[in-house]
Amino acid sequence: MTETWSGMRGIAAVPTYVVMQPTTLCNLDCSYCYLPFRSAENRMPVEVAAAVAESVSSFAAAGRFSVVWHGGEPLATGRDHLAALLAPFDPAVEHHVQTNATLIDDAWCEFFVETGMRVSVSVDGPEDHNGDRVDRAGRPAYTRIMHGIESLRRHGLAFSALCVVSRPRPGLAGRLYEYFLDLGCDVLGVNIEEREGVNARANAFDAAAVRGFWSELVAAWRRDPRIHVREIEWTLRYAGAVLDGTADEVLPRRLDPIPTIAADGRVFLLSPELAGFTDARYGDFSSGSVCTEPLADILARAAGVGWIPEFLDGVEGCRRSCPYFGFCGGAHAANRYFEHGRFDVTETDHCRNSKIRLLEGVLDHAGAR
Ligand code: SF4
Repeated sequence: MTETWSGMRGIAAVPTYVVMQPTTLCNLDCSYCYLPFRSAENRMPVEVAAAVAESVSSFAAAGRFSVVWHGGEPLATGRDHLAALLAPFDPAVEHHVQTNATLIDDAWCEFFVETGMRVSVSVDGPEDHNGDRVDRAGRPAYTRIMHGIESLRRHGLAFSALCVVSRPRPGLAGRLYEYFLDLGCDVLGVNIEEREGVNARANAFDAAAVRGFWSELVAAWRRDPRIHVREIEWTLRYAGAVLDGTADEVLPRRLDPIPTIAADGRVFLLSPELAGFTDARYGDFSSGSVCTEPLADILARAAGVGWIPEFLDGVEGCRRSCPYFGFCGGAHAANRYFEHGRFDVTETDHCRNSKIRLLEGVLDHAGAR
């Protein structure tokens, strides 16, 4: 009998990308933000970036490798400092930035061209869907977001968009998709709002409403599939693999550790959202610091340290109990912690909204003409 493998086990020693926090500061104060120190300016020293770059060069030698600059608001660190943080990295490394777009101007666009940095903007759809996106004085940020996006378009720069949906329901997805078609992004990611970090808003929604939202998004995309929609394409890839008997090959053999390097050099694995929190049982959730140890060494021993063994127990619980495991792989550590206070649980509202209902919503179209 051929032994089938079913989902990832353990953590890979080599990630496919790292997330870097050049500053904790953000110039906005969105209602659903999870970041605890977004009003404080803690900038990443160049020494931290240099230490990461050294480990990353060996990762990049093995294949394509990306650094994702995430915040705070990464552009709030300033062009000169961001350039100094980029400088130590091997030229083969690809750089991406996730930004609220409000600071993008001609000078930033020139920076993106010079560095080859790929831009993803956070915008939640038409103006009336951006009520959560405000600055510290409570003023809406939409006009400033659009000003930044117009700069990107003027410079002919391709960009992705990330949309947070706070109340998924039928009747919304079609309008959102039309908006992003007009916006001109080439890739769209859709995140149902999550209860994590300092965002304590409930994220339990009616199952039929969430499924209807995803199903409607698929219908809109099928009518005009000009944009790559991350969630839909991943789900279709999985569904196709189930049909041709290769579903066991879809997920990687081991979990990607997705190291997040905080501004002070501490390393947070699997879930950037854990950075900045402490817990009597789990300490500060960090797995080490690149200021005292190479990132590669931290990753090599990660599976046995801190809260991670408890999370891996939770993943095994998912493997035993959940029919969606081959698609989901156990979802994210931070959602378990912030919803249940521990890591060895299985279902969360996040996985119901963004894994289970997503797959159901896509499968609503199976057999549709
Ligand atoms: S859908 Fe939820 S319960 Fe199922 S594998 Fe994913 S995280 Fe685990």
